[in-house]
Amino acid sequence: MEQGAAVKKYRKGMTRVALLYPSTYEVALSSLVYHRLYFTLNDMENVYVERFFLRSPGGPPEPLRGYEGGAPLRSFDFIVAPIHYELDYANLARALLGSGVPVPSRERASPKVIVGGPAPTANPEPIADMVDAVVMGDLEASQGWLEGVLNEGMPIEPAETVYVPAEGKHEVRIGYSASVPRGDLRRIRAPEASFSIAVEVARGCPFSCAFCLEGHITKPFRTRPASEVIEEAEGLYRLYGLRVALVSLTANASPWFKDIVRGLVARGVPFSVPSLRAELLDEESIDLLARAGQLTLTLAPEASERLREALGKLAKDEDFVRAARLAASKGMKVKLYALVGVPGETMDDLRAFAELTRRMAASGVRLELSVNPLVIKPQTPLQWLPMLPEDELNSRIRAARDLYAYERFSYYDPFEALVQGSLSLGDRDALKYIVEVARDGVGRGSWRRAASRGFLSIALRPRRSPLPWSHVKGPFDEKVLAERLRAYLERVPEA
Ligand code: SF4
Repeated sequence: MEQGAAVKKYRKGMTRVALLYPSTYEVALSSLVYHRLYFTLNDMENVYVERFFLRSPGGPPEPLRGYEGGAPLRSFDFIVAPIHYELDYANLARALLGSGVPVPSRERASPKVIVGGPAPTANPEPIADMVDAVVMGDLEASQGWLEGVLNEGMPIEPAETVYVPAEGKHEVRIGYSASVPRGDLRRIRAPEASFSIAVEVARGCPFSCAFCLEGHITKPFRTRPASEVIEEAEGLYRLYGLRVALVSLTANASPWFKDIVRGLVARGVPFSVPSLRAELLDEESIDLLARAGQLTLTLAPEASERLREALGKLAKDEDFVRAARLAASKGMKVKLYALVGVPGETMDDLRAFAELTRRMAASGVRLELSVNPLVIKPQTPLQWLPMLPEDELNSRIRAARDLYAYERFSYYDPFEALVQGSLSLGDRDALKYIVEVARDGVGRGSWRRAASRGFLSIALRPRRSPLPWSHVKGPFDEKVLAERLRAYLERVPEA
């Protein structure tokens, strides 16, 4: 039985907004942004909100009905959809198709479709012809615009941080809020779908690793005071009885990280932490995490020290070995993220990484390895480079499986990585593939059929400026990114 949802009755004249999460109910509830957006919309006086989810991650287009009132999706004035992952573009198209809502925005008087999230912020073009507006960057920066449109009936028009694709490729800025807003305790909870409850520790990342989209579009790094995080986490735990998931791209880059962990331990609030920066981990941090009952330390060395440095990750092999030793001494296991297909990567790089895993394993720590093909992303210094073909990525994953030391090994499918890359890097013509795949059930077979018609060539070819997303102005000017690519290529001439 769900708890915590806003109860608001429809009044004549209200704007009817469908909050559509282009994935399942369980995935929606795990997203902090989803909860925020739900309550933000409900706080608008003249807005009536119903929620929509997909019944399954794949399958033929299905007619969607509101979770609250059962009204069909097409009967709403607006669809608001947060999109975290590029693969959900096809699910958005699937939801529209199944509900009898025309996919091209030019064929639709209503509902108007407004989206946001990191994927369309970095490059909105693949879905540009399907949506009416894209909120670029932090929701808070465009909240006034959203309120004007939904609550006050203002027309959809471009704004500094809102992209309106029907107006052509106009310049637009990625918006950010100056600080992390004070979170409130409102959350929707369903016992069968809620396993933890997210609390923001910081927003953005102080680093800018060359492959990382988030590290390039979420500037500046904004931390929350320890007292605020602890108060919110404790309040949520007492209210909902769920473990708190501390959310941040690099939690231990916050100067308040240890204070937060210490405070939560002292108050008996169970919590989990995301991936941590190895070079910032000291004995005290690991001791605190162990005392908090953390069983796993998650680290991301990504690649050999040579490639890691060229990518802009500061941690040395020595930092990971030291962290492994400390984790082992506390009985914790280490989960390690590694990349394959980094531009210019050679067998020597894979061997050097294998040596790092052996040194870590020698400390007695149990190692879980997650190996992922590097997906080239827009707004990053690598945005001009091609991804490696599927068979090459597969052979590098096989090499990693053979060479690296580990207790458990998992990997992300190279084909899906190429699909993700093509969705990230596409222009407006990518929509035809997205719609075909949506009609075809969004399964692996449907992406394969799109690939056979040339879809993956988007990720596999090199790119030149102007790029499909050159009109999107992020924290880094394209010239700065090009300069960083030049520096990378000097250090990794094989690329
Ligand atoms: S990979 Fe991690 S540390 Fe690097 S920029 Fe991205 S979030 Fe920051």
